[in-house]
Amino acid sequence: MEFDELALDEQLQIARRGTAYFAQRLARFSDADLGGNTLLPGWTRRHLLAHIGYNAAALCRLLDWAATGIETPMYASAEQRAREIDEGSTLSPAALRNLFTHTAARLDEKWRNLPPTAWAAEVRTAQGRVVPAAETTWMRTREVWIHAVDLASDGRFGDFPSPVLGSLLTDIVGMWRKKGLGIGLVLAVEAATPIAVHEDSTHTARVAGPLAAVARWAAGRGGAGVRIEGHLDGPPGWL
Ligand code: ZN
Repeated sequence: MEFDELALDEQLQIARRGTAYFAQRLARFSDADLGGNTLLPGWTRRHLLAHIGYNAAALCRLLDWAATGIETPMYASAEQRAREIDEGSTLSPAALRNLFTHTAARLDEKWRNLPPTAWAAEVRTAQGRVVPAAETTWMRTREVWIHAVDLASDGRFGDFPSPVLGSLLTDIVGMWRKKGLGIGLVLAVEAATPIAVHEDSTHTARVAGPLAAVARWAAGRGGAGVRIEGHLDGPPGWL
């Protein structure tokens, strides 16, 4: 089962659970801990908090766009997005925690109040993809669950709802295909049909294991729990 096969209210519930999962991990850190490193190179927990807060605000802009038809992009530019995160990381710990809570609540409110017809309205993501506004449920879900792991607390891919893992793997393989990466690679998730990243290539490497472990490996968050056969220098980049 993939995320986009779920009913809208189930999707929203998984997004909300992801926010709660992130919040629980965040609550364990002291203000001083927020200066500690995440799993993302060069980003402290303060950067990650700024990013997750501004991401919710950016998704609110997409929902406003869908509701009004007036174009309001997620970010003015990639530079503006990066600068906002850098500047945000210098906010006080209390302000960063507030930013997370308030923007998540605002996004939830936008979802609750979006007119039924607006869910199908087309908006554009930061990567330039044109998607229906309904895609924001997945965009946010992916962010909160993965970044809860990136906080470097006890967040685990094994805690993710399985539609999140399935859709995440689909997204990653789709990106590899688009970029021509992962030639010869086969992903063998237990109890599922193996996925050749490129059907027509000679298979030279195989990564096998439970869905959570394969998705974690593919997302570039470590190789615990997977068996790797053949030669491979780690997963190709996907973002
Ligand atoms: Zn992110």
